[in-house]
Amino acid sequence: MSRTWGHQIRRLADHVVDRADRFGHTCATGKCQGLPIHAVQWNYITGRGGRASYTTRHVCDDHGAKFAAKHNLTIGDPEPERQHPVATAMQAMTSVPGFEPRRRVRVHRTAAGQWYLEQHATGAGMFSHGSRWMAGAPTRAPMNQAIAEAELLLAQLTLVPVGEWTLGAAEATVETAPAYHVEPWASRRWLMRVACNDRGMWQLHQVLDTRFPPIVTDLGNHNMTLDRAIGAAGEHITNCGWFLDDAWIVTDDVAEQTGLHPDQARSVS
Ligand SMILES: [Zn+2]
Repeated sequence: MSRTWGHQIRRLADHVVDRADRFGHTCATGKCQGLPIHAVQWNYITGRGGRASYTTRHVCDDHGAKFAAKHNLTIGDPEPERQHPVATAMQAMTSVPGFEPRRRVRVHRTAAGQWYLEQHATGAGMFSHGSRWMAGAPTRAPMNQAIAEAELLLAQLTLVPVGEWTLGAAEATVETAPAYHVEPWASRRWLMRVACNDRGMWQLHQVLDTRFPPIVTDLGNHNMTLDRAIGAAGEHITNCGWFLDDAWIVTDDVAEQTGLHPDQARSVS
């Protein structure tokens, strides 16, 4: 009795093949160095319990053709694009007009004089909470020093205060929002930069302001050229709903241009 059944083979979508090449991924058959072109799949029985399971492998043109011939299969078209359910849910939530993932932030001093930062996030059913000791604010530091330290920590999350802090005896609270929702950053363009790092990885850096950490996306480290990195960056940027201003400006091995975050692009349109 056969322990495997339900063999299938499909071509991979062009952008999946392109990505596999950019990251140097190879055929899943033995030591084959071929570029993955096809996805093969089959069902099998696992363990003594006899549970049915399945496996999927990405294989090259050659090994795909052999698999198809062996199992008498026609090679199918790429699987239709499916968006990740979490991405879909996030999009549905954040595209509600007026939705802003606001967080109330509180700094407070304990009886021992240590400063803590607390965050409460709300918005469309999301709620989270966290509390952390602010190592950068010395014990018994004055309130303004604790607030300055809190704003530095918030900037690491690209969050900024909306309005003034409300001061209490040993605590202060403020509402925060993503910087790109709040002026002056809401109307500021992001700098987009495509370059190769010192480990040979081409990356896209998206920078709103030097006070906030850049958004870094790996573009590939195999068979790469600046043109190819620009192409991959452009595809990634538009797929994620960002707005690009113009053409890339190329200087040596670096390409730059400006653009808007999806939330900024929405509020402009
Ligand atoms: Zn192969």
